[in-house]
Amino acid sequence: MVDSILEGVLAQFHNAADEINLDAKYRDYLTTWKTIFQTHFPVEMDDGSVRMFEGARIIHNSALGPTKGGIRYSASLTLDDVKALSMLMTWKCAVVNLPFGGAKGGVIVDPTALSMRELQNLTRRFTSELEPIIGPDKDIPAPDMGTNAQTMAWMMDTYSMSHGYTIPAVVTGKPVAIGGSEGRLEATGRGVLYVLEAQLAAQGGVRGKTVSVQGFGNVGSVAARVIHEAGGVITHLSDRFIALHNPQGIDVTAAYAYAGNGTHTLREWHEQNPGSTEEIAPDEVLTAEVDVLVPAAVESVLTKDNAPNVRAKLIVEAANGPTTAEADAILNERGIPIIPDILANAGGVTVSYFEWVQARQYLHWTEAQVNEELKRIMSVAFQAVAARAANNGKPVPQRQAANWIGIERVVAAIDLRGFYP
Ligand code: GLU
Repeated sequence: MVDSILEGVLAQFHNAADEINLDAKYRDYLTTWKTIFQTHFPVEMDDGSVRMFEGARIIHNSALGPTKGGIRYSASLTLDDVKALSMLMTWKCAVVNLPFGGAKGGVIVDPTALSMRELQNLTRRFTSELEPIIGPDKDIPAPDMGTNAQTMAWMMDTYSMSHGYTIPAVVTGKPVAIGGSEGRLEATGRGVLYVLEAQLAAQGGVRGKTVSVQGFGNVGSVAARVIHEAGGVITHLSDRFIALHNPQGIDVTAAYAYAGNGTHTLREWHEQNPGSTEEIAPDEVLTAEVDVLVPAAVESVLTKDNAPNVRAKLIVEAANGPTTAEADAILNERGIPIIPDILANAGGVTVSYFEWVQARQYLHWTEAQVNEELKRIMSVAFQAVAARAANNGKPVPQRQAANWIGIERVVAAIDLRGFYP
């Protein structure tokens, strides 16, 4: 059974590598992680007790430049997850043509079970443990599941304090007031809309299309909102606690105003607005009969068990790794196109790149500049993947094409740089 995200990501890699006859030396290189840094560290809790935590930062490959990737706080995080997610970051950065390699990190912790003070203590201590790894020219963390702009502010401050001066380029996804980029918070969700518009260009665009969105965190809530604003009809929407349905379209503007940014849950919004939506079983969000399904929550939600029941005409992977390898095979067989994660959710790291550039130049772009440049990069990447997927009359899934592009760009960089010494 291939269910772990690492097995799935490796299976995709070998599948893509086979088709482009990738030389064995690159295959070994690219399935070996450059740095695996693990640490155990103490945190003083509010009641005076001391708890040990486990964290990691994994660098997959740095051929294209300094490494980039989020920091995840999750109680169920494993080292294999972090390895898989770091490899996805390598291909993602390459697909959108950023001068970055791939990395990922995280701590095994349920952040909702900690007070703000405990979270700050944990983040600062973890950052200081990461001193030998991270740096504005080396490895640049960002938010991911369970972390946010505040986490990045603490990381930036801790790193800066130990160096004696402010170093804003050491992390991205910071609050705008201390060097974050306009539009970074919305970037991943906005990028999802841009690739969706590009995919549907020949079918009248997003306007009037029915859409089911799983997840209402930073990615899902913004994706649902901007798709709604672009005229898409969000008929199904869920968060961790409830799944909602309205065949006429959910008022996502109102849901976002009430429950966006984690202020409230969708259940609370549903209860405040009786009659506006009906509660449905969580899995119905994935199997809804809609034009577009957007899994924007966690990994491995589309499995061999529910893939045969998916009735969407198109899937846009806003989450990282939402489709297991087995589900991917089933959905390909059934002819349901998938815009893969490393393209669909690359808007986040793309605006992280803009934030890093702004930090290094002490410049501040307007939100309009950010969104325009994001749209340009996402469109170029989408067209490159779509053209490659056409594969000279022998079409392949976009995931295969995106992996080919990612792998080839990294291999080209390895070739040009050569091997040291
Ligand atoms: N965590 C996000 C991702 O998975 C963003 C990473 C970044 O901006 O470095 O793509």
